[in-house]
Amino acid sequence: MAKTIIAENVCKGCGLCVDACPKKIIQLDLGKLNAKGYNPAHVVSPEQCIGCAMCAIMCPDSAITVER
Ligand code: SF4
Ligand code: SF4
Repeated sequence: MAKTIIAENVCKGCGLCVDACPKKIIQLDLGKLNAKGYNPAHVVSPEQCIGCAMCAIMCPDSAITVER
């Protein structure tokens, strides 16, 4: 199964990965602030990840790693 890992403290909460994910399983965690003061992206339904890596390609800060 594919696994998406988001480096929470590198994320700047831009939301590009949220829009890029075809499965719509990434959201900004509005209940949390990271070390930079942003709402970090997180994967809400990791079991649905298909490993397409669109999220990692879109992230301007290379905060996302996809293992498959
Ligand atoms: S690898 Fe694809 S399906 Fe998985 S979280 Fe990233 S964009 Fe979504
Ligand atoms: S694209 Fe990168 S920086 Fe932007 S919200 Fe997603 S993980 Fe964070």
